[in-house]
Amino acid sequence: MRPHKDFEELQRRELIEQVIRRAGSSTYEAWWSRVGSAGFCSAPIHLVASDGKNSILVRCKNRRAAVCPSCSDLYAGDTWQLVHAGLDGGHDVPATVADHPAVFCTITAPGFGAVHTAAKDGSRSACRGGSTGTCGHGLPRNCTLSHALSDPSLGQPLCPDCYDYVTQSLFTWHAPELWARFTITLRRLVRRESDHRGIERARVSFVKIVEMQRRGVPHFHCVVRLDDDDRSSGPGPLPPRCNMDAQRLADLVTSAVGLAHLEVTGAGGELITLRFGSQVDTQPLDASEDAAGPGSARRVAGYLAKYVTKSVSDFGIASSRLAPHLIDDLDVSEHIKRLLHAVAHLAEHTNRPEMALWLHTLGYRGHVSSKSRSYSTTMGALRATRAEFQRIHVGNSHDTPPAETAWEFSKSGHATLGDRFLATSKAIQDREARWARKQLVDEGSEER
Ligand SMILES: [Zn+2]
Ligand SMILES: [Zn+2]
Ligand SMILES: [Zn+2]
Repeated sequence: MRPHKDFEELQRRELIEQVIRRAGSSTYEAWWSRVGSAGFCSAPIHLVASDGKNSILVRCKNRRAAVCPSCSDLYAGDTWQLVHAGLDGGHDVPATVADHPAVFCTITAPGFGAVHTAAKDGSRSACRGGSTGTCGHGLPRNCTLSHALSDPSLGQPLCPDCYDYVTQSLFTWHAPELWARFTITLRRLVRRESDHRGIERARVSFVKIVEMQRRGVPHFHCVVRLDDDDRSSGPGPLPPRCNMDAQRLADLVTSAVGLAHLEVTGAGGELITLRFGSQVDTQPLDASEDAAGPGSARRVAGYLAKYVTKSVSDFGIASSRLAPHLIDDLDVSEHIKRLLHAVAHLAEHTNRPEMALWLHTLGYRGHVSSKSRSYSTTMGALRATRAEFQRIHVGNSHDTPPAETAWEFSKSGHATLGDRFLATSKAIQDREARWARKQLVDEGSEER
């Protein structure tokens, strides 16, 4: 539903007028500081005190960068803290966790058909140079182009008719169960290993972030850590007594990924076995690694924090429920449309009617981030600490209104698109500046 060019032009002019009117108004300063008190959130919530005397703005707390750059940046920061604390200590996690065996891994979905690809490091090699001939639909099986990382054809199939949209949708729908199978299998392998070697049992802790790949299927980035299995041993994870090293843990992760599987019924009632892809990337984390090294707690926390703000809205789908009859009107790629139709088809023709409620996530219904209980601190605890800090040092909190007053929801969002534009631009500017400073710090420590 791409609006007509003239309409876009009209909207653009209206936006500029709104910005100019706001900037020139006598209440500009007061408005700006009010918006600033909610961290330049793109869709702040207006709360009114129940006695009607006071009103405040608080953050929308949306995790998605496409919805609110400011709140998603905060969410990414909290994720960073949470992952980092589990690897290096802090926030009530003892610093001794740095000595636990830990592995950073990426677990992918299997292939559902050839798609256009590019090397992640941006090196220019041919997309699919090795293949030859044409498929049954007369389309070439090879692609000799070397795509730029920004190329919209990346993740799109070479032949949509050869592509297995149904199985991909089933994989996405059942991915949370498959992930659960993986963790159960890994725990079993770790237990078996310790029993076999006659050593103390260890407990598996983890944090995981789900990322939607360009082809529209989730894959998992996670940190797996071993702790002592003695649950009565007071607060915080203790180093395992099992003497298993990070490399051995990485091997067990790879085995568990290979073993985890799930039998489900397809669109025609046939049995389909779902598995992860054979491509498992495991990186044993070494506590002695330089702070800027690829396996350092800082780097790993940075990777995971980056993924958490992405969402399916990056494909052009709004982050709200979607009705099947609207699929063809969406301003998304042909590939995503086909994927959405496959999800809608499965919802209608298999015993999974609730799939229709998850069209807007391409059928993924799990959490974007999750962790086992003992891995680290919680997002809630991090927010509470920040609110406390802000109240002491700034006098108010962007996250939560003061508890002494009863607040009522009045409305959400900015008064005009112009106001939203001003706040969002400032939030993006702040975020860019922060990431640039962070990169300087990381690169500086690399050169040493
Ligand atoms: Zn926000
Ligand atoms: Zn290609
Ligand atoms: Zn084909």
